[in-house]
Amino acid sequence: MTTHWNYPDPALQDELRKIANAIVAPGKGILAADESVSTMGKRLTDIGVENTEENRRKYRQLLFTTCPTIGDYISGVILFHETLYQKADDGTPFPELLKQRGIIPGIKVDTGVVPLFGSNDEVTTQGLDDLAKRCAQYKKDGCHFAKWRCVLKINEHTPSLQALEENANVLARYASICQANRIVPIVEPEVLPDGAHDLERAQKVTETVLAFVYKALADHNVFLEGTLLKPNMVTGGQSHPVKFSPEDVARATVTALQRTVPAAVPGITFLSGGQSEEEASVNLNAINQYSGKKPWALTFSYGRALQASVLRAWGGKDEQFKDGQDELLKRAKANSEASLGKYAAGTIQGKAGDAGLFVKNHAY
Ligand code: 13P
Repeated sequence: MTTHWNYPDPALQDELRKIANAIVAPGKGILAADESVSTMGKRLTDIGVENTEENRRKYRQLLFTTCPTIGDYISGVILFHETLYQKADDGTPFPELLKQRGIIPGIKVDTGVVPLFGSNDEVTTQGLDDLAKRCAQYKKDGCHFAKWRCVLKINEHTPSLQALEENANVLARYASICQANRIVPIVEPEVLPDGAHDLERAQKVTETVLAFVYKALADHNVFLEGTLLKPNMVTGGQSHPVKFSPEDVARATVTALQRTVPAAVPGITFLSGGQSEEEASVNLNAINQYSGKKPWALTFSYGRALQASVLRAWGGKDEQFKDGQDELLKRAKANSEASLGKYAAGTIQGKAGDAGLFVKNHAY
């Protein structure tokens, strides 16, 4: 085993560190708006809107033309390839709208999950082949961070060693390619909430997954100060009979992170994973209020839990554009407060409120 390697040169380290720190600046988090064409289709169909390129553009325009105060709460937006190259009605490219609001554009670079042959219905994520080329282009086109989502499943016999090793390795390889192209990688190993497992099992699986991920990142010489982690919160399984309190979720989540995530990582940006909008805010708040060692920023990178109310309020109607934007501002403010441990449950009410956003075997 050799212990000779090269970290990025100081200028690159500096660039990556600055981007990562800006994303997790106090009171700020990420809006995940990188739904693939088919996932966006499901969201639009739910509100009776046809899944056309023009309707997807209109919806993203609604998000990105929200009044500039949105930039007080949102530091980064994750885009889907198609969205990065779309423009507002007046011709302004979407990344430009974000920059005007002080928001850093990011990009989803994985190309989705595929089955692991021979496994018990487990998956890996693909997209490595031309990743360096795509990252170089995305950087030129204004993206400074990226997302790659891996999925781990809990059942009696999973996650398997095959899934743990493969997903950790593919995340590390992705992270390394991003950094070589001056892009901060968000490393996302999502342990799905599907199942009847309890909180303890979810915690142990999350710890194991993260231990594999950080070993692989070390093996690939990834510069941790220039990365972010996007994990699931540790919650009980979706069909477990007990509903665990925000304090229980906070304890299990922070304990799992303390045991596995190096202090060199600047921030942890949770996915919402099917929690309701209010639940995602209340749990994030409890995590930040939990007393114990927390050497990283703990904030949000929500998709469903920032957009459910927006979609309902908009309903595909031009005259309700502003209603949708108001909902986005409300949820962004609630989560900003939660990231500082200052959100009082129920004080910011969205249209989707407590509606569950769980999707079985969720794909992005
Ligand atoms: P949810 O917040 O809807 O779980 O999704 C966030 C995300 O970006 C998943 O990759």
